[in-house]
Amino acid sequence: MLRNIEETEIDLPQIGPLPVRLRPSARATRLKLRIDPAFDGVEIVVPNGISRKTAISMLYQHGDWVTAHMSRLPERVQFVPGAWVPFMGNEHAIRTVPDAKRGVWAEAGVIWVSGLPEHTNRRVSDWLKKQAKLEIAPRAHAYADKIGKKVNRISLKDTRTRWGSCSSNGNLSFSWRLVLAPEDVLDYVVAHEVAHLQELNHSARFWKVVEDLYGPSKKQQHWLKKNGSALHRYGAGS
Ligand SMILES: [Zn+2]
Repeated sequence: MLRNIEETEIDLPQIGPLPVRLRPSARATRLKLRIDPAFDGVEIVVPNGISRKTAISMLYQHGDWVTAHMSRLPERVQFVPGAWVPFMGNEHAIRTVPDAKRGVWAEAGVIWVSGLPEHTNRRVSDWLKKQAKLEIAPRAHAYADKIGKKVNRISLKDTRTRWGSCSSNGNLSFSWRLVLAPEDVLDYVVAHEVAHLQELNHSARFWKVVEDLYGPSKKQQHWLKKNGSALHRYGAGS
């Protein structure tokens, strides 16, 4: 039985060596296969009682599916001069201004970066995380006010499968990558997590709170489903 997370490489006849992460799970009831765009490979969730061998054989069985999905992963985009980044959902070109001492700023479709080009990747990455917080925090507090709740702490993370989460003590966390999504999508995720301050579940009552706060959100949910994984292709792999 699998006890710890294992990262390995499996040779798939269709595409050759493929990074694979086996993740044991006490909660899962069946084997689950997903493409992990941040990892450039596949994650297999392995429930208790299922052997490593069975998990790997499922990967072979789904070789064509994996190959098709891996080939559809967008190219990885580093935050380097000349790259395009969808800041707040709008494509921005990264340009450097070696002599400037203004840090990083966005203006008319360009993300300008002061300093040497070799520091651009880290600078843009730090800046995007900061912008994510600046966009998310005021919205979270405003939504919470509307339902008479208090947000305890807001943290930004680089989660792989969730865009946000809410704990019972009022802490909210969000993926910083939401700052690469259209503004209405970011806004929806904030409303969704704040709604959990009132209903810590996905019941009909919960969705009513979301609707009251944000309005209809089917379009934004759909956007995340369809485009969310592409957001994991930006910046250094995590
Ligand atoms: Zn939720």
